[in-house]
Amino acid sequence: MPPRDIETPPQAPKEPDKNLDVTDGFDFPVGDRDGRGWGVTGYAFLDWSTSSNSLHPGEDWNIPGAGNGDYGQPVYSIANGRVRHSLWNSALGHVVVIEHQLPDGTKVWSQYAHLAERWVVPGEKVARRQQIGTVGRGPNNRFTAHLHFEIRRYDLAANAWPRTNGVAWPAEKVQQYWLHPSAFIARNRPSH
Ligand SMILES: [Zn+2]
Repeated sequence: MPPRDIETPPQAPKEPDKNLDVTDGFDFPVGDRDGRGWGVTGYAFLDWSTSSNSLHPGEDWNIPGAGNGDYGQPVYSIANGRVRHSLWNSALGHVVVIEHQLPDGTKVWSQYAHLAERWVVPGEKVARRQQIGTVGRGPNNRFTAHLHFEIRRYDLAANAWPRTNGVAWPAEKVQQYWLHPSAFIARNRPSH
């Protein structure tokens, strides 16, 4: 048996967090509640990203064919939760991370990056579909406007990326820490 990977994180606590609202379902982060009018036309989950030399741990959402025409469009919290991070990062630009508690006590964290504007502060309670910022182009307009969007299984740093000392993690390891964003949302739609 190989040694246990010491970077394998502990399981998320199942003790309910009484200070955090329980989610009543998940909507898409851009467009209408169903994400209509938008699509993952940039890097998809686990695509090889040549710009970062690693697997892409989220989805790049755009209005297809819009170029920078989606700059400034609203970005919404996908579910009820609490803002974990709202900050500027030199690689990702403006980033918001929101903590969510599912009815079974499991937590997930949604991350929204390359934003033009951030409308929330750490510790703030947010509702599903509340606008938390606008679509941007990242630091120094490094990218064509899009939303970089992740769903994490752990409370990671705002700028966490699946690499160690420049070496990309394999897909199996990335999937220990990150969920397929649109597949997760599709499995967890609100009843209303
Ligand atoms: Zn991306």
